[in-house]
Amino acid sequence: MTPDAPATPTGRHVIVTGASRGIGAAVAAHFVALGDRVVAWSRGGSAPEGCARTLSVDVADADQVNEAVRTATAELGPVDVLVANAGITRDGLAMRMSDEQWRDVLATDLDGAFYCARAALASMVRARRGSLIFIGSVSPFMGVPGQANYAAAKAGLVGLARSLAKEVASRSITVNVVAPGLIDTDMTAALGQAGADLSALIPLGRAGSPADVAGAVGFLASNQARYITGAVLSVDGGLAMGL
Ligand code: NDP
Repeated sequence: MTPDAPATPTGRHVIVTGASRGIGAAVAAHFVALGDRVVAWSRGGSAPEGCARTLSVDVADADQVNEAVRTATAELGPVDVLVANAGITRDGLAMRMSDEQWRDVLATDLDGAFYCARAALASMVRARRGSLIFIGSVSPFMGVPGQANYAAAKAGLVGLARSLAKEVASRSITVNVVAPGLIDTDMTAALGQAGADLSALIPLGRAGSPADVAGAVGFLASNQARYITGAVLSVDGGLAMGL
């Protein structure tokens, strides 16, 4: 018999990147409601009410990321939870995709997630605890025309997460990926008819809400998920089921 998981502590130091709107804002609000101390990052620097700190950080800039983690840990102590959520799209068919479109997406969605994880892990390893959650996507599992850059970056997150999971498991740190499907945010508002077409393929019959994703992130960061690491949790209404 293993003992039940101890209650998840409150007052944790939680960093959420891309917290100014959409999924990141819902994730930040979720942890604020649990009583955690949330540091909200975005380039614009806005955040949901109740966050302990709001920082303007471009995750594609490693120096800014390192400085922001230094600031946050000096004020709030070791990072307990990092949610690497910041992401962009620059869609276009691969044959016509510019170098800039490719690099911008890789720089934010993959390099940025790595910089954040590297900086936060230094603090977690010293504390011998922590939870790292990457916001991936169903895109690499389904393949999406026009999103070669985005799908490649999000696929990279899976390899990154699983390698890190093995590197830090001995320190009781878990590393997981949440893979949303079609979620109603600014990112998907521009999809128009393509979004409606995709929606029609979702077994649960609707696009998800940012709160649907926040619930899954909250679970992976909780003590109930302490034995889950290296996992990819789809939050997609069944869209990519089995892939
Ligand atoms: P939004 O466009 O609504 O929000 C993106 C957030 O990321 C904003 O807070 C933005 O703030 C921030 N951001 C963007 N670039 C940077 C950067 N370089 N540095 C710091 N912050 C940045 O997107 P969603 O909420 O829809 O998406 C959030 C995550 O979920 C992304 O990783 C996305 O790929 C993923 N996802 C979304 C899906 C969906 O259907 N919506 C589906 C699957 C995955 P600011 O502009 O102020 O910097």
